[in-house]
Amino acid sequence: MAFSFHTHTSFCDGKADAAVMAATAFEHHYSHLGFSAHAPVPFKTRWNLPWDRAEAYVVAIRELQRVYAPRGMKIFLGLETDYAPGLTMPDTPAYEPFELDYRIGSVHYITARGEEFFTVDEPQEQFTSKVLRWASDGDYSRIWKRYWQYMAEMIARDGFDIIGHFDLVKKNNADGRWFDESAPAYIDAAFQAVDLASERGTIAEINTGGIARGKHHEPYPSLTILKRMRAKGVKITIGDDAHAPSHIGTYQHAALAAAEEAGYRSLWYMDAPKVWKEISIDALRAEMRRADH
Ligand SMILES: [Zn+2]
Ligand SMILES: [Zn+2]
Repeated sequence: MAFSFHTHTSFCDGKADAAVMAATAFEHHYSHLGFSAHAPVPFKTRWNLPWDRAEAYVVAIRELQRVYAPRGMKIFLGLETDYAPGLTMPDTPAYEPFELDYRIGSVHYITARGEEFFTVDEPQEQFTSKVLRWASDGDYSRIWKRYWQYMAEMIARDGFDIIGHFDLVKKNNADGRWFDESAPAYIDAAFQAVDLASERGTIAEINTGGIARGKHHEPYPSLTILKRMRAKGVKITIGDDAHAPSHIGTYQHAALAAAEEAGYRSLWYMDAPKVWKEISIDALRAEMRRADH
C-alpha cells in the first residue's frame, strides 16, 4: 500500500489529466489517492480550478473513484483550499455543493486586503520583486510573521482535514536570503502553529512537493518542526503534492525517512471521509519494497 492525499491535475496547474495521475498511482501500487485541485477562488489566477470547470472536476474524480474501487485503489475527491483572510477560506460555503471527501487547508497568500497579491511559493524572481515592494522597509521578517499568523488562524478556525505543506514559507528561502529559519522568533511562531494543531487534533502532511521541484532536499515541514509535531503528538500523513506523473511515488521514501528521523513510528491515512487509520512505517516500507519488485 501507499498513499498521498495531495494530487493536482490539468484541472488546475497540474501537467496531466486526472486519469493519467490515477493510472500512475495505480502502477505504483497506491491503495489511497486523494485529488486536491487548487480550490476555486473569487479572483483570477493561473493555478486555481476555475469555477466553470469545478463540476467537470467533481464528475471526473467520482468516475475514477468508481473505476478504481474494484481494483483496490481508493480515490478521494478533495480540494486544496486557501486561507486568505478577506478573500477565501477552507470552509467557504460555496464548496459545499461539491460534497467533497476532504479538504486540505493551505496558506499560500500572505497578503492582506488592500495589499498587492502574492503567494509565498511564487517563482523566485516574481516573489522577489513583490516582496521588495511589499516590505519596502527591508524588514523581511514580515514574510514569516504573516505566514505563521495565517497558519495559526487557519488551524484555529478549522473547516478542513489536512494542513498543507506546513512551512511552505521556506520555499523561496532555501539559501536563507530572506530570513533565518533557525532564529528563535521564527521557531517560536512555527511551534505555536504546531501546538495549536496538537490541541485541535489536526492532521498534517509531510509534503514532498518542494523536493519534486528541486527546491529543497527535505520535505515540508523541516525536521525541527517535524520533531515538535512528534513531541506534541500531531498525526501525520503523506502528500506528494504531485503536479506531474513523475511526482507520484517517487519521494515517498524521503517522506518516510523524514518521519522516522523525527521519531515517528507510524503514519496516518484516510480510509474513508473523516476516517483515519494508523500504519507503522515499517509495515509501509515493507509494502513499498514488495511493490518495487
Ligand atoms: Zn499548495
Ligand atoms: Zn498542492
